[in-house]
Amino acid sequence: MSDPGAQADRPPAPRRGWGGLQVGRVLGVPIVVQPLWFVVVVLFTAGSGQTIKDNVAGLSTNAAYAAALAFVLLLYASVLLHELSHVVVARSLGMQVRRIVLQFLGGASEIVEEDPGHPARDFMVAMAGPLCSVFLAGVGAAVAPAFEPHTLPWLFAQGFAWVNALVAAFNLLPGFPLDGGRALLSVVWRLTEDKNRAQFVSGWVGRGLAIALAVYGAYVQNIPTGHGSDHLSGIYLLLLAFFIWANASWVIGRSKLGVVVPRLDIRAMSRRALSVAADLPVAEAVRRAHAAAARALVVVDSYGRPVGVVSEAAVMATPPQRQPWVSVSELARPVADGLLLRSDISGDALLAAVQAHPATEYLVVEPSGALFGVLARADVIAALQAAGLR
Ligand SMILES: [Zn+2]
Repeated sequence: MSDPGAQADRPPAPRRGWGGLQVGRVLGVPIVVQPLWFVVVVLFTAGSGQTIKDNVAGLSTNAAYAAALAFVLLLYASVLLHELSHVVVARSLGMQVRRIVLQFLGGASEIVEEDPGHPARDFMVAMAGPLCSVFLAGVGAAVAPAFEPHTLPWLFAQGFAWVNALVAAFNLLPGFPLDGGRALLSVVWRLTEDKNRAQFVSGWVGRGLAIALAVYGAYVQNIPTGHGSDHLSGIYLLLLAFFIWANASWVIGRSKLGVVVPRLDIRAMSRRALSVAADLPVAEAVRRAHAAAARALVVVDSYGRPVGVVSEAAVMATPPQRQPWVSVSELARPVADGLLLRSDISGDALLAAVQAHPATEYLVVEPSGALFGVLARADVIAALQAAGLR
């Protein structure tokens, strides 16, 4: 939701980005300004000072640039109002808001995504911003006729109306991460009852928009203007295209993850494991594993209880001539809490368990405590990659 150029609000992932300066709180929500924002304010001010001087008679150069700065800040105030509209609606629906960020491409409201969430609520939150911008454009258009044409207040009101109309129109484009794309996502979600498909659709429309914007940006860059070509606008559009592409790709990845993760089956992915005594030489353990068609080694104590998982990587790293002289326990990782997975977890719970305790191998046990097998992290990653995820 957002921006002068428009932008995307609510970065999909809790990306902390480049940090920023907290300038205050509105409705309890921190307002953060990224350092690059100040650079853009200067560039916009420099870019519009001459336009103001040309359109308002009798204005000195200094006064024109001071007015340009005031105008740019006024536009950012309207971006902030656009973001606050998202925030107010989200909060009234009981959703959590992390912060509002003013970035060089506009603004972004970081609203905590609910899981699974609700399409109607997301739709209302997404539409609140553009509605606010339409309203502000209407205010500008309504007050402009009250001023003498070609005076500063008249120019401000006209510019305010146009920019807010542009922000509303741009953000209503139906590709993720723009507001219109989020609205499209919730509509498709509602109609198909398939959030993954809706994410996929809005993500691809977003990628299409990014390409169109990049092409337009390249075109704008080559249009001759009075002072050469319009490089700044072109670069701005290219950055915006890149930003939209990245976020659209993110949501497409999410949609694939949403399809694949629920299907992660720990029993199907687990490797058959051979139980061995702690003092068994690695060479003999590997020979027995091959004979038993087992692809993992688990060290058990004299009662048969699993006490360690032998690292496949450590076995591979041990030269064959050394393997008869190294015991399996030397290459085993002791079984700690996080390395023990029950064979009845699956999907999100499985992924969360693996992410919470990074390791190369996990011991998989039946609910009864009996050894089921060994889950290699590489196999989980391979299953995700098979779905086109990295
Ligand atoms: Zn918005």
